Amino acid sequence: MSEALTKALPLLYKLEELGYETVFVGGCVRDTLLGKKLKDVDIATAATPEQVIAAFPHTVPTGLQHGTVTVVYEGETYEVTTFRTESEYEKFRRPSQVRFVTSLREDLQRRDFTMNSMAMRADGTLVDPFGGQDDLRRGLLRCVGEADDRLREDALRILRAVRFAAAYELRIAPATWRAILRHRHQLAHIAMERVGLECDKMIGGNKPHHAAALLARGGLLSCTKDPLPAELVEAASLYGDSVRLARASDKQQQRQNQQQNQQLAYSISQLHRLPDGDDRWAAACGALGLRAGQAVELFGLLKYSTARSERLAAILGVLEAMAPRFIYFREKHASSAQEWPAEEHRHWILTILRFGQPAAKSWCDITIAVPSLLSVRAEADEQPTAVDTYIDFLRSALQSMAAGTIKDLAVKGKELMKMADLQPGPWLGRLLQRLLETVALGEITNEKGPLMAKAAAILETNEV
Ligand code: ATP
Ligand code: MG
Repeated sequence: MSEALTKALPLLYKLEELGYETVFVGGCVRDTLLGKKLKDVDIATAATPEQVIAAFPHTVPTGLQHGTVTVVYEGETYEVTTFRTESEYEKFRRPSQVRFVTSLREDLQRRDFTMNSMAMRADGTLVDPFGGQDDLRRGLLRCVGEADDRLREDALRILRAVRFAAAYELRIAPATWRAILRHRHQLAHIAMERVGLECDKMIGGNKPHHAAALLARGGLLSCTKDPLPAELVEAASLYGDSVRLARASDKQQQRQNQQQNQQLAYSISQLHRLPDGDDRWAAACGALGLRAGQAVELFGLLKYSTARSERLAAILGVLEAMAPRFIYFREKHASSAQEWPAEEHRHWILTILRFGQPAAKSWCDITIAVPSLLSVRAEADEQPTAVDTYIDFLRSALQSMAAGTIKDLAVKGKELMKMADLQPGPWLGRLLQRLLETVALGEITNEKGPLMAKAAAILETNEV
């Protein structure tokens, strides 16, 4: 038994002492058998929520209608959930009301997959009525009981199946896969928030490209309640699908499709190299050829926050502004030791100012991890270092920028107003922006004297 489980044992002892059967359950049991690090330790018990609350000094009623009480113990929190069934499902969604039961087996039976329906007792014995351990050994993801019933009860399980199969590198059992295909249209009953949460876990998890391949193979992306962008659905339907590719009308089209498809597949296969989930999203959107606006639309559909959308749009903005420049760079400069041309430098600096330093930095990281975003040939060995060289140039320019935002300037708006003897107005913002560009481009130093002089010169020519 792992340390995380051992630490929670006193909770099991306490409830058992009071006469309630109590076990570890779900993900922590599965991950213990696989020798993986545990995310959280969930406990299931025959005690009712009131009895759980009475048994411990420090509890929080986090989900009473589902039978869940959070117990705080030795600095950790544990979700303790009363054994329950979810007998009545409404419209392919999990019900809001549940029925408490005293049988552990009944509780395990309502769970989705065999590997998630195992329990472990305080003495370490496994309760595994549906063969979860066996399936794990064989590398199989399988629904508990009849797959059709499980997926009809809750269509979100279709996406959970994809997520778990990808993250744990499991094959989906044939009967479960066939049921997924039969029930995929019921994904239309699932709130987009829940779809969004699953998608986030898929892209942020181990082997996101396996998840992408399964979504594509099952045609699952065209089944959601709100339609996802056509580009995404279409690219997904092409992804790794040689049959459809072969059907392309003429030879040239076929070759082009194939190349695009390979590049997409290659880019998606590199996502795992990025530690941050949102960077993976940006890379995936870039690989799919989504424009910033379309990517924002996608995030909106998946109910992700505006802050996340804005960050994504900024990174894709940098990609859109810089990707065409790479082609120029590779042709003209990669092989020779020529100096970085001034106009390219200028374009990069202005791009940074437009989308912000954090987005520019993220885009550099993303491009190093997924170089095929810039070049179809990045995966071939023709010029393996062209992208690296390019990004090296850009990164060093980014790092040596004297100012990235107006706040970084060594002069304040008030000082400029005083010097110009003018009331605040749009002119001030424009002037500060001009000064920022001048400093960022290295034309003047970021010091009060030169800035005031430059400001005076700009005002003189009435350029703002
Ligand atoms: P992880 O936390 O690593 O994503 P987990 O297995 O702990 O994996 P949770 O979503 O935290 O997943 O759910 C805990 C347990 O609750 C699962 O192991 C499973 O037994 C059960 N469960 C969760 N969601 C569902 C569902 N939609 N249908 C059936 N059972 C579910
Ligand atoms: Mg969990």
